[in-house]
Amino acid sequence: MRSCEVLIVGGGPAGSTAAWKLRRAGADVLILDRERFPRLKLCAGWITPEVVRELGMDVASYPHRLLTFPRLRVHVGRLQLPVACVQHSIRRYEFDAWLLERSGAPVETHTVRHIAADGDGYVIDDAYRCRYLIGAGGTRCPVYRELFRELNPRASDLQLVTLEHEIQYEWRDPDCHLWFFAQGLPGYSWYVPKERGWLNVGIGAIAGRLKRTGQDIRAHFAHLAGQLEGHLTPGAQFDPSGYSYYLRGRVDVVRRDNAFITGDAAGLASRDLGEGIGPAIRSGLRAAQTILEATPYQLDDVTGLSVGSIARSMFERMLHAGALGARQARAPVPGAADALQHRDP
Ligand SMILES: Cc1cc2nc3c(=O)[nH]c(=O)nc-3n(C[C@H](O)[C@H](O)[C@H](O)COP(=O)(O)OP(=O)(O)OC[C@H]3O[C@@H](n4cnc5c(N)ncnc54)[C@H](O)[C@@H]3O)c2cc1C
Repeated sequence: MRSCEVLIVGGGPAGSTAAWKLRRAGADVLILDRERFPRLKLCAGWITPEVVRELGMDVASYPHRLLTFPRLRVHVGRLQLPVACVQHSIRRYEFDAWLLERSGAPVETHTVRHIAADGDGYVIDDAYRCRYLIGAGGTRCPVYRELFRELNPRASDLQLVTLEHEIQYEWRDPDCHLWFFAQGLPGYSWYVPKERGWLNVGIGAIAGRLKRTGQDIRAHFAHLAGQLEGHLTPGAQFDPSGYSYYLRGRVDVVRRDNAFITGDAAGLASRDLGEGIGPAIRSGLRAAQTILEATPYQLDDVTGLSVGSIARSMFERMLHAGALGARQARAPVPGAADALQHRDP
């Protein structure tokens, strides 16, 4: 039987970030993931400046595709609103593998099925023993299923269903577009370009409301694809796949003895835009901190409203533009670089 101090189930952003913090403090960590990385993860791949900061990422030296948006284009009905702010896109296929490798933790390909409490630790599938267990296995995390589900049942009206496709496509419009409530959709659709010829298009909607109103998410996707064909993605072929996860609700129990749940396993995505990468990273960092420093494991503040992050970024941009303007008025600096760079492919 393989023994370790901390066993992490799932090598997505929650698991790899927890491992990264634990490994830097010298902890003995093992990650189990049912898939071999790099692996496909359905996700638009939009990340906020907060995520970049919390991961200690240097955007300029990130070795894979990263596109910075100087604005979002928000559509509601016939209204189109350009929102000046800084947000980024990455490809999860690359980003997750990079985070996992950066963590420095050993990773084994193993599908976790059974978890048994054993003294002050856990035995996994009769093959692994650990003192601490972090559940970072996403929506269908076995740690959630075996140890937390009864205590935190998921609320069906917080289930977000999605349909998306990421394709190689030489896009011409480098802005991120979001359409809210098109055709009565209880959610939104997106066009998220990635650096160097990749594009993600998708739809996310509240499952319960779709069902109650008799709407079909595939029909919504077909409508979106038809609209995009006309102007943003002529000639593109989409064959979307679906996945569901949970928006943040009441999560009463996130720790039991030495077991923790993080990220989608705990259902932490933001209520307004379904942003899950930031909460996954924050909860992974918190779980690691609790193990290292015996601090309480609390997730009350790991999910905020995503529009809050966008508003902060708008504000910072305005301040930056103001400061730059004032500096330039005093002593013009030829070629002064705007910190808000747009990286073209
Ligand atoms: C279509 C779509 C678009 C999205 N777009 C965005 C976006 O643009 N921005 C954003 O912030 N969020 C977005 N999200 C949400 C975001 O993808 C998730 O919230 C985020 O991936 C959660 O990270 P995680 O580490 O908790 O779980 P995951 O990233 O799901 O990682 C879980 C890992 O656990 C492994 N695993 C699962 N079961 C087992 C098992 N039994 N044994 C071993 N390993 C197991 C899986 O293979 C996986 O690697 C989107 C989600 C979807 C579905």
